[in-house]
Formats: sequence, C-alpha cells, structure tokens
Amino acid sequence: MLDNETKLIQRLFLVLAAVLIAGCAHGPRTAGLKQGGFTTVLIDPGHGGKDNGGTSGRRSAPFLREKDLTLDTAMRVRDILNHAGVRTVMTRDGDYFIELDDRVAMSNRLGNGAILVSIHYNATGSSAPRGVQTFFWHANSHGLATRIQQNVVQSTGEYNNGVTRRRLRLTRNPQIPCVLCECAYLTNPAENAKAAQASYRQLIANGIANGILQEYRLGDQGIPSVPEIWAPLSKGSERRE
Ligand SMILES: [Zn+2]
Repeated sequence: MLDNETKLIQRLFLVLAAVLIAGCAHGPRTAGLKQGGFTTVLIDPGHGGKDNGGTSGRRSAPFLREKDLTLDTAMRVRDILNHAGVRTVMTRDGDYFIELDDRVAMSNRLGNGAILVSIHYNATGSSAPRGVQTFFWHANSHGLATRIQQNVVQSTGEYNNGVTRRRLRLTRNPQIPCVLCECAYLTNPAENAKAAQASYRQLIANGIANGILQEYRLGDQGIPSVPEIWAPLSKGSERRE
C-alpha cells in the first residue's frame, strides 16, 4: 500500500515536472530567441548621482543635465520593449552613480542571450555640433548599432553622424553585444530645446527601441559584416572612454 502510494506520488511529481518544464518553455526567457540571438536587453542610462554627464552649457536653454535625460529616455525604451514582450534590465532606475566597470560587470553577469544598450546625450565646447551617433567596437555589435542609428534618425529627423567604431569601456569591455548611442547634442541650442520636450525624447526612445526590435527579429540580416578587431580592454585612464 505504501509502495503504491509512493509510486503514485512519484508519477504525480513527474507529471507536475513535465507541466512546469513545458510551461517554462513558453516563458519570456526562452520564448523569443530569434535571429538576434538575445532575449534580454540591459538598458544603461548614462551617468547618474554625482556624475551629471554633459549639460546644456551657457548658450542653450533650458539648462539640462545628461543624467536626467538618459534615465528618462531609458525608461521609455524599457516600456516599449516590455510591451513588445522583450525582457529588460536597467543598470540604474534612479538618480544614483554607478561606475562604468560595474556596468560592464552587470553585462557580463547576464552573459549569453543579453545585449547592452547604453544611452547618452552629447555635449561639447561649441554650439555647432549636432545630431545622433552610435558607437560599437565588436563585430557582433555592428548590426545593432546600425539599426539603432538608422531608426533614431528616421524617428527624429536628426542629423546623421553615422555609426562609429570606437573602443570605449562600454563598447569594448562587455562580453555581450554592446552599443552606446549619443542621442543629441545638449550644447546645440536647437537640439537642447527639443531634448527638453518629453514628446521628443519619446521619438528618440521609439527609434532606439525599434532598432533593438529589428535586430531581435532579423539579427544581422542585410547588415554588411565588419572584421573583428582585437584590442586590450579599455581603461578609465584613457582619454576618451
Ligand atoms: Zn554621456
């Protein structure tokens, strides 16, 4: 009697395990492994806390801080991706400081199946530079960078500074596909005035999210391949990072 009961319990357990495994196969982590080969997007709002990032400077009004705009834009991107059924993780979701190397470590902890998209706004000493620019380093990040760049330009009508291969700490060091998007220049008065509007930041976020979703669906289909280039890890002591 006890034996039969044990067998029955074992059988029930196996059925339950099968149901759980089948259920998990439709869960968000494994459901969407499409051509892009990722299921999770680590969204990184640049700067934060004691680090304002760039600011509007004296010629542009209103006065804006990069760290506020990156967080706002990142949350908009997160909402679009979540709505589309893509899992997201944020490196920060408030106004606090995180070291660049800790952002890299977060990327590497997520590992295979994740990508990193770092969001920034540009600032420089002159009011002339304008437009959007997306950085990548690794060959496996070229498609993602290209799609984000194209989609932000299309969504906002901003000047296209193109995709640039540059060894930054957030484009070189993460062991997952990773890009960094400079969405607009706060030191350019016209772009600063636009970036001050929530509706404009929504257009930027739409562009970034559409680029990510395109890569999610299509992978690097139709994107020209670039060679992998070896380089040592990017360090904080280097001038441009
Ligand atoms: Zn920045």
